[in-house]
Amino acid sequence: MPVNRGIVVDDRLRSDIQNVYALGECAEHRGTCYGLVEPAYEQAKVLAAHLADGMVDYSGSVVATNLKVSGVSVFSAGDFLAADNGEILVFNDERRGTYKKLVVADGRLSGVVLVGDTQDALWYLDLIRTTASIEAIRGDIMFGRAIAQPKAA
Ligand SMILES: Cc1cc2nc3c(=O)[nH]c(=O)nc-3n(C[C@H](O)[C@H](O)[C@H](O)COP(=O)(O)OP(=O)(O)OC[C@H]3O[C@@H](n4cnc5c(N)ncnc54)[C@H](O)[C@@H]3O)c2cc1C
Repeated sequence: MPVNRGIVVDDRLRSDIQNVYALGECAEHRGTCYGLVEPAYEQAKVLAAHLADGMVDYSGSVVATNLKVSGVSVFSAGDFLAADNGEILVFNDERRGTYKKLVVADGRLSGVVLVGDTQDALWYLDLIRTTASIEAIRGDIMFGRAIAQPKAA
């Protein structure tokens, strides 16, 4: 059975041995081993569907973290390092302690880092997960849902 950092599985969580599956921290999917609970839940749903003769594929998880660092809220999700050559948009207000970094690729939000003000974290995460086009709201997306969403319809 091929093992790199984890047991290598395909989009149905199958190893290369018939009827042997892997998910969670021990599994490696498309080169990624996840170290969080949520991807394992997503993998479990796909595997359950597969075992029930469903036709659902697992294409990977968008990993998000929400932390307090020395009392400061910090959120990150997706390709926040712009490893896939996305465009980087940055807003930095040092006096208020607010920093935002958005990564845009192919007209879609692919990653985000928020420091200080994380109230729009789940909105940004949803934009990443749904791969919705942000072209119509690009000018306002940095300022959050309340300002950008009225134009998003
Ligand atoms: C300190 C700490 C804090 C964490 N905090 C977070 C967090 O805030 N948020 C988050 O999303 N993730 C967190 N994680 C990661 C998260 O716990 C793991 O990603 C998750 O538990 C992985 O689930 P799993 O079912 O794949 O593996 P595990 O939870 O490790 O389960 C594997 C099970 O297999 C059993 N086992 C091992 N070997 C054998 C064997 N040979 N035979 C039979 N049974 C065996 C083990 O006893 C264990 O019960 C944290 C991890 C640690 C260590």
